[in-house]
Amino acid sequence: MGQETAMTQDAIRIEGLRKVYAGGKEALKGVDLTVPRGSVFGLLGPNGAGKSTLINILAGLVTKTSGKVTIWGWDQDVNPRQSRAAIGVMPQELNLDPFFTPRGALEVQAGLYGVPKAQRRSDEILELVGLTDKAEAYARTLSGGMRRRLLLGKALVHAPNVLVLDEPTAGVDIELRQMLWTNVRKLNKERGMTIILTTHYLEEAEEMCDEIAIINHGEVVARDSTQNLLGQLDAKTMVIQPEDGLDALPKAEGITAERRPDGTIALSYRAHQTSAEDVLSLLRDQGVRIRDVRTEQADLEDVFLSLTRKN
Ligand code: ADP
Ligand code: MG
Repeated sequence: MGQETAMTQDAIRIEGLRKVYAGGKEALKGVDLTVPRGSVFGLLGPNGAGKSTLINILAGLVTKTSGKVTIWGWDQDVNPRQSRAAIGVMPQELNLDPFFTPRGALEVQAGLYGVPKAQRRSDEILELVGLTDKAEAYARTLSGGMRRRLLLGKALVHAPNVLVLDEPTAGVDIELRQMLWTNVRKLNKERGMTIILTTHYLEEAEEMCDEIAIINHGEVVARDSTQNLLGQLDAKTMVIQPEDGLDALPKAEGITAERRPDGTIALSYRAHQTSAEDVLSLLRDQGVRIRDVRTEQADLEDVFLSLTRKN
């Protein structure tokens, strides 16, 4: 432990990571990324961006073309056993042996990771993922949601320092999504587990993650705290419902007015150069009487679009 702590405080350190698949597809184009210990980190990007490729390289399921991957201080190429022991991965696909029961699947997984019988915590894990009463059911009789929970359980058998979830909530119902979110928060808060999750749901990243990297076409296009990413855009929009129909749209430097199909007028401005008061006085000056008014803020979706639109 002493050695690894001295080496780095990062849970994951990725340097110049490239992956070219057989057939020539360059899925990762030299990615540099660090994930601090103890964080909930989001890897966000559209389908095909390279998220699963990156995760599967971390998990040792896909071989990298070049670059360096360090997990909990262990270089993947120099100390493959230690780096593998430090990470647990819940894969995107539901690949489960249909003939194992949940308890059996956890035991086999623990065996693969060399966890001694006395240290196995199958009951505790079954409880955590809500499969206690399905412990002896065959995997093929489990619902999609239960299988996903079992995959989470399998990722936990060796008590990894880093838990990676590849699109954990893609296509799952709200109840399961809430359960997964609760579990992930608990593992992070109570056990100090570092969590990395990939998602193409902006809402999920916004809700769950302390820090976010946005990946697009195999490249990291942004990496910052969720707060800072959201703060990057200071675009604001004031939407007014005018008392009377307007012949001409209000006009002023720094304010863009647009008529919406529902009859409201949307006035867009930058918060750092124009205040809401400026917008209201412009309307007053131009004799616009307001029946109703509300404001809209930029959300992560706007940041995301502005960063991924250029390619
Ligand atoms: P994401 O998880 O962000 O949706 P992936 O990492 O799955 O993205 O895929 C990144 C790119 O690599 C895509 O263009 C995908 O088609 C391609 N790709 C993924 N797996 C393979 C593979 N086994 N062989 C060839 N190309 C692949
Ligand atoms: Mg994927």
